[in-house]
Amino acid sequence: MENKIVKAFGTEAATSPLKEMTITRRDITAKDIEIEILYCGVCHSDLHTARNDWGGTVYPSVPGHEIVGKITRVGKDVTKFNVGDIAGVGCLVDSCRTCNSCKEDLEQYCLTGFTGTYNGKDKHLGGHTFGGYSEKVVVDEHFVLKVPANLNLAAVAPLLCAGITTWSPLKHWNVKEGSKVAVVGLGGLGHMVIKLAKGLGASVTLFSRTPGKTEDAKQLGADEVIISTDAAQMNSVKGKFDLIIDTVPSIHDVNPYLTTLTISGTLVLVGYLGELNPMLNSVPMILGRKSVAGSLIGGIAETQEMLDFCAKHNIVSEIELIKMQDINQAYERMLKSDVKYRFVIDMASLKKQ
Ligand code: NAP
Ligand code: ZN
Ligand code: ZN
Repeated sequence: MENKIVKAFGTEAATSPLKEMTITRRDITAKDIEIEILYCGVCHSDLHTARNDWGGTVYPSVPGHEIVGKITRVGKDVTKFNVGDIAGVGCLVDSCRTCNSCKEDLEQYCLTGFTGTYNGKDKHLGGHTFGGYSEKVVVDEHFVLKVPANLNLAAVAPLLCAGITTWSPLKHWNVKEGSKVAVVGLGGLGHMVIKLAKGLGASVTLFSRTPGKTEDAKQLGADEVIISTDAAQMNSVKGKFDLIIDTVPSIHDVNPYLTTLTISGTLVLVGYLGELNPMLNSVPMILGRKSVAGSLIGGIAETQEMLDFCAKHNIVSEIELIKMQDINQAYERMLKSDVKYRFVIDMASLKKQ
């Protein structure tokens, strides 16, 4: 056995469209699993990376970290999986496994840096890692998730990033029956906040710029929709929320949301990465012991917990299935918030080309 050349879709530069290319996947080691990718979700982080919005993208870049597929080979020391099993891979494919974060199942906060599914440092082949817009992926079994058999596999894929990124703060801030949760932005992450927080028994309010999303939000389970540009509507929810999850990908003023937190409430940023502008106003924070926090995806054990919770509560993402070749149009639509509510690539389309 040896390394394999497989088909993928990626980009050579920040300003170039994605196109078909080939990449190398390593031969399996004793603890590795080889997965034939069936579906891959399209996260806004894929777009940020392909276009180098955050800096640091290494090209060629093959995005994709919401992977569901079928196991085609397992290494000799693999214990959790068998050939033929359906498996998931999210945003992480490795970490040091020995630091305090890793020991606490917080691999996403690995003190020496986790290995991202794409644009990470490839410890096996050198160079950088390539994501799920490809035929196959090889991953250490520790970073592979068991996918519940009762759920629609294409609609499960977004749970591997959008699902865990929203589940982790909901759990960390102890959302439960009766909690009052709000979400800023109804996109891939935002719609998962609604579904997961409702599943946990909370009431959920959507803050959106887009009045046209109100009906959808209610169908997804939102109890209330507040149009964030309407001052009177914003005023009507002053002091209300225990937890707000802000999923907006670009720079925006978070101060108006702070006044809608209850005493000791927390606003968690999961979207925009960078300095805030305008700066935070400490007045509502000091007068109400309010916090502004951030949160990054979730650990492997927590991701499995979320998938099992979704299986029990029959929760999946709302998806629009696309062909691999439609990815560039999908990115343009995502930038216009024109997606209900996650694109998922049917990877069979890559094989057929
Ligand atoms: P998405 O599907 O594009 O959704 C973003 C939503 O934010 C939009 O649907 C829109 O909702 C709202 N929005 C967009 N531009 C806005 C603006 N200028 N002002 C106010 N609201 C705006 O994106 P996504 O995949 O959910 O990802 C959201 C962000 O989270 C991205 O930046 C992504 O990189 C990041 N992310 C972070 C993590 C993490 O671990 N922290 C993990 C995954 C993704 P409305 O139309 O309802 O306003
Ligand atoms: Zn993502
Ligand atoms: Zn570590």
